[in-house]
Amino acid sequence: MGPSRRALGRLGLVTALGLLVSASPGAVVQKAAAPVAASRVAITFTDYHGYTGAADYLKRVAAAYPAITELIEIGRSNTNRPVFVLIVTNRKTGVALDSLVPLRHVRLEGKEPVKNVTPMKPDQAKPGVWIDGGTHGNEYTGTEVCLYIIDKLVSGYGADADLTRLIDSSTFYICPAVNPDGVFNSVEKGIAQRGNSMLEDNDGDGKVNEDGPDDLDGDGVLRQFRYRDPKGPFVISEADPRIMVRLAQNETTGRPRYAVITEDKDNDGDGRRGEDGESGIDVNRNFPEGWYRDTQEQGGTGAYPSSSPESRAVLEFFTNHTNILMVQSYHTSGGFTYRPLARWPDSRLDAKDLAVYDRVMGKKYLELIGEPVPAAWQDAKPPAAVPGRGGSEAGLADDQQPQGRGRAAAAAPRATAQPGPGAPAPPRGFRHAYNDTASTPYGYGVFLDWAYAQFGAYAMSTELWNWQKDTKGLAGYAGEDDRVKWEAAYIGWQEKALGGRAFKAWTPFKHPELGDGEIGGWTSRYGSGNAIPGESLLGVCEVHWQFERFKASLLPRLDITSAKGRVLYTTNDPGAPSATAQGDTVTIAKGRKAGRYRIIEITAAVANTGPLATHLGRGASLRGNRGDVVWLIGDRDRIRFLQGTPWVRLGTLDGTMPIPGYQPRPQPSSMEIGAMTGRGRGGFGGGAAPIGGQLRLQRPEETPMPADGATREFTWLVAVEGDVPLKIALSSQKGGTVVKDVAVN
Ligand SMILES: [Zn+2]
Repeated sequence: MGPSRRALGRLGLVTALGLLVSASPGAVVQKAAAPVAASRVAITFTDYHGYTGAADYLKRVAAAYPAITELIEIGRSNTNRPVFVLIVTNRKTGVALDSLVPLRHVRLEGKEPVKNVTPMKPDQAKPGVWIDGGTHGNEYTGTEVCLYIIDKLVSGYGADADLTRLIDSSTFYICPAVNPDGVFNSVEKGIAQRGNSMLEDNDGDGKVNEDGPDDLDGDGVLRQFRYRDPKGPFVISEADPRIMVRLAQNETTGRPRYAVITEDKDNDGDGRRGEDGESGIDVNRNFPEGWYRDTQEQGGTGAYPSSSPESRAVLEFFTNHTNILMVQSYHTSGGFTYRPLARWPDSRLDAKDLAVYDRVMGKKYLELIGEPVPAAWQDAKPPAAVPGRGGSEAGLADDQQPQGRGRAAAAAPRATAQPGPGAPAPPRGFRHAYNDTASTPYGYGVFLDWAYAQFGAYAMSTELWNWQKDTKGLAGYAGEDDRVKWEAAYIGWQEKALGGRAFKAWTPFKHPELGDGEIGGWTSRYGSGNAIPGESLLGVCEVHWQFERFKASLLPRLDITSAKGRVLYTTNDPGAPSATAQGDTVTIAKGRKAGRYRIIEITAAVANTGPLATHLGRGASLRGNRGDVVWLIGDRDRIRFLQGTPWVRLGTLDGTMPIPGYQPRPQPSSMEIGAMTGRGRGGFGGGAAPIGGQLRLQRPEETPMPADGATREFTWLVAVEGDVPLKIALSSQKGGTVVKDVAVN
């Protein structure tokens, strides 16, 4: 998520480079990145692709892999750049629910098919994974990770059995640049731009974008200007005069103090520099969960939720793709992953979701990045209290900094509240986004919270890249916790690997307002806290690809394990079947002669064979979401339901994986279930009146319909005219749709 717009503008590039979170002691350097698999569309990570390179890559992949990809445009930025989403899924698999029965106009029954409804696409009928990057334009490491994941998916299809199955049975929606203008300006133009390019009058003077940064020395790129300032927060490193070192708060020094700013002057004569550049709305503060019109704390939340075209595009896309169950949003930097919520404490999280987040996903994440997993997260037994938020947090998250505090506060662990008894120590690498130590609220309108709390997805947000842990391949650098040494190694490396274009020697320059100083240092493109291109970037990409692959392997997988029909008798009068029940004995009298209706008893069994349930803990009850259903489908003019109804509501189908640390609620009795679901006690789906008040093919206690569990069984009794084929469809909003023909004998 990065620092707030204001904090970045104030502190400049050195700050963004220099003051990230501290690593936990005993951190393990991660394993070497796997080589990039052979692909029909070659890609390297020796430099950033930016918006243009990413868009070009997406188009080439879509052209090279037409069977498993589709490139769509979900919206346009303020300067008319497309927001692209690459859909990766087997385009031949997946059953769109609306394709099973054509819609008909109720008043033109039998005459007019409904035409004004956009048909569903097969990708929407499979569990979905959303992965994005570049919501904050200057955090383009996420764009690279998205491209890497695309490369792994498309080149793995057909070569890797697990991946092939995943792409056949689920759908990936990958949006490498949510904020095209911000990514373009940050990478292609070299002007670090967090927000989008909406025309915002940031300084309230009635003019827009009149005071952005300036290329003072006219060399075509923005670097830094350092100048003597008795109150400046920097000194020149004694070990390496190219490097600026930030002093700690209240630290005194006898050495000359410096201020460091981005190349910039006061274009509008208001005494401030760079306060009204092209950066507009902070897209990741513009979502409609916990949104607040904030012009003071972090700023840039926009005039109203989804007022930015980019957040609007994402929201509209999600509204039409309710199959998405996993959401990952990549930001920089720090090297840790957030789970919800950013705006509210853990008490607002469902206990089951919390257990999935921390004990399943968080545990795996820490293993992948080589950090110790809290003991409480490894314990398979349910704890006395729900784990997760440890109650303490060392340092604020990067973009959770209240204005004025900036990143400086993140450098040193701050005094925190004491964790409750039994609460695990919060790991560095996997965190909740909420900060319970801040005195002012923040985290307004973040995507993470919307995607979890309103949409119902396992949403996560990762601050990619930690210079201490993720740096690779720098000669002379061995991972010490010494930023000066690290920065010197990076300067040396870029002279060869990047032709010296990332860092330039400090050169005297007379600033029109600030007087004598020097221009030089890092260009914004390479010095803004993104992963170093090449080996370091590849290492970050590989770890997060592994994590995404793991999360996708947890998706629900629906199956109709049996669908059978048994003809009980035939009759010409389906409205009057003759069956009586006396105690446990049910007697069905056959019709005296063969008729044109077959009376068929249909049984079906369904299962979720995937590890996770088809919804979040409370996902099915969120507005806009629905529980899973089983649908008995036949020609509606020639089928009559004697027992049961076409639709049977299942609630949520659990997954096969026991959730560590979560105690499921006790199974309710069948009577309670009947009361909960509105079903009768007859053991049939739906609420149809029993025929003649008599027919009971099975006793209710023999056919419990559990409210929990990964499997369910159903029975219907139908009168079918002629040889109408029957199908069973199992449809879950986020678990996918599967169909099976009913075998009648
Ligand atoms: Zn960010």
